[in-house]
Amino acid sequence: MFVRQYPVYGCGEQRVNDKNKRYGQTGFFTENVGGGCCGGSGAVESSRTAVPAGGLGKPGESNPLRLSFQENTAPGETLAERLDYMEAHGVTGFEPGGKNLSARVGELKQALRGRNISVSAICAGFSGFILSEQPEVRAEFDRTMREIIAAAGELGSTGVIMVPAFNHQVPVMPHTPQTRDYLVEQLRKLGDYAREQGTTVILEPLNRKEAHYLRQVADGASICRDTGSRGVCCMGDFWHMTAEETSDYGALWSGGRYLRHIHIASRGTRQMPGENGDKDNYVDGFRALKEMAYPYYVSFECGCAGDCTVSVPAALELIREQWAKA
Ligand code: MG
Repeated sequence: MFVRQYPVYGCGEQRVNDKNKRYGQTGFFTENVGGGCCGGSGAVESSRTAVPAGGLGKPGESNPLRLSFQENTAPGETLAERLDYMEAHGVTGFEPGGKNLSARVGELKQALRGRNISVSAICAGFSGFILSEQPEVRAEFDRTMREIIAAAGELGSTGVIMVPAFNHQVPVMPHTPQTRDYLVEQLRKLGDYAREQGTTVILEPLNRKEAHYLRQVADGASICRDTGSRGVCCMGDFWHMTAEETSDYGALWSGGRYLRHIHIASRGTRQMPGENGDKDNYVDGFRALKEMAYPYYVSFECGCAGDCTVSVPAALELIREQWAKA
């Protein structure tokens, strides 16, 4: 998360940008999926485009790199201009913020109509937080999050990104096993609601400067597992992973079938990938995504230090080169 600023388909069934393409049951972990998140049953009939079943493909199967931009990543004055730019550069996912999303459903549907671009995820936008000690703050989170989830479902988003608690959000429940149990129970209810709406909630681990509570992809994935809801997923953000993980490869494999979304930025200053030179190496992480046939999006969540008309296409080229190398 960047503060700057189908009928039912669960973690196993989602849509991607390959419009009109449907995928059947896949996943060499699918025999183990149980109540887990990103490894569910086969694609379902839907007015929306179905997606690969599960976050993991069959051995030897591959999925293409699917790139996504947040709302202000592409050069352009208007949303239409930015979407035109994305289409021209092969970016097929769009990640809007969640604030006022329900009021924007019509606008966004209209903007995306006829384009080869789908909503990759919704970036937060709720009020309150789930681990507040104050019941009214928790209630505000629940009300606003459910409103965004419903809108996300209408837009066919893979999920809605959330953080249990930022460091600045107080008073917060203590970091204890009881609080984790509470979080798991609340997320189960939220995840089940998200499934009813045709989408998911996506837990985002952040670095310790932003959120002490949830910092590593594996921790997020274990919370997903413990909810038993296929509507609860997690993600990895290369920026936060730079500070918290010892291995991009190990971290993303730990997310495994619960992995629903990826954020990417330069690894030194959180600008456009490539703007921090040799630091901006994503090959090990991409290798994990390729091995697990990750079927969702890699989404830009970053600023731009230089001229965006130069840095954005250079970043796309860099990422595609590293994906090919991975
Ligand atoms: Mg992020």
